[in-house]
Amino acid sequence: MTTPDSPNELKRKVWNFTPPLPLQLAPYWDWPLRPLASIAYLLKSWNPLGTRLIFLVIAVISWTWFTPDISRAKTVEFGWIFEVWLKNIMLLTVVAGGLHLLLWTLKIQGDEYRYDMRPMMKGAKIFFFKNQVHDNMLWSYVAIHFLTFFECLIWWAYANGWATMITFESNPVWFLVLIVLIPIWAGFYFYCHHRLLHVGFLYKHVHSWHHKNFSTGPWSGLAMHPVESFVLVTDTLLFLLIPAHPIHVLFLLYHHGVGAPTSHAGFEKMKSGRKYGFELGDFFHQLHHKYFDCNYGTWETPWDRWFDTFHDGTRQGDLLVKERRRKIWADR
Ligand SMILES: [Zn+2]
Ligand SMILES: [Zn+2]
Repeated sequence: MTTPDSPNELKRKVWNFTPPLPLQLAPYWDWPLRPLASIAYLLKSWNPLGTRLIFLVIAVISWTWFTPDISRAKTVEFGWIFEVWLKNIMLLTVVAGGLHLLLWTLKIQGDEYRYDMRPMMKGAKIFFFKNQVHDNMLWSYVAIHFLTFFECLIWWAYANGWATMITFESNPVWFLVLIVLIPIWAGFYFYCHHRLLHVGFLYKHVHSWHHKNFSTGPWSGLAMHPVESFVLVTDTLLFLLIPAHPIHVLFLLYHHGVGAPTSHAGFEKMKSGRKYGFELGDFFHQLHHKYFDCNYGTWETPWDRWFDTFHDGTRQGDLLVKERRRKIWADR
């Protein structure tokens, strides 16, 4: 028999699929410190079917075959900027469009690993064109222009000596340290600006655009107010301060630009054969879309636990969020 608080009951009522509940956060911030568990967690985050490694592979491919020679970026010219723009438009189309086509249109794996059974909305006035997917596509294509802007800015900075470029041969240790730190940084940065976007005016006029998506699909990831999609990739400016290689720049940009479409795909995994599946969705963030005032960061950021906004996916998490909301209203 299932008790009212059991994860299974919650799963049956609200979700079609969930990862094992309660969700566990990274042990990096546990006290007393758990160094071995933290190293094991970090190594696991680099598993071959995980998004982290895939973003890195895409960054390497992008840099090796699809990025204009940095020396061309010395002057601001249409040619190389157009090439960067085209590359990013293609990347978004392949990633978000490809996932949408396979998972939502062709339904190649049916509802397996799908979190929320609600369809993409049609006829709802809150969306441009009254169509969630078309609205989401429009704002995703707007967002990719900011990613292109910051990518071009850093190439221009490298070409003109405003930023310091390293290579693996010249600084192998720093090169690898940055590869490990960038995903964790991306989560930290996401928490900070995302938490701010949930405050009064900013939520009402900016971030509420993203939260129109109660149920999310690949195009929802970057479907946001242009102010938000600009801020999302502004941390690229870090590379004006720290020595790095263009692969690091692309790796960080893709955590935001490719990471958003994959994490919002609505499916935990994309099946590959009977046994395996590529990591996609982020149930931690899926809970944020459902309940709003919880899970502002990622599995790897400590603040949701510290500030009591962590929802672990269970009924207990539901009650915590409700209670917090009640207190906020009572204090007004
Ligand atoms: Zn939010
Ligand atoms: Zn989101």
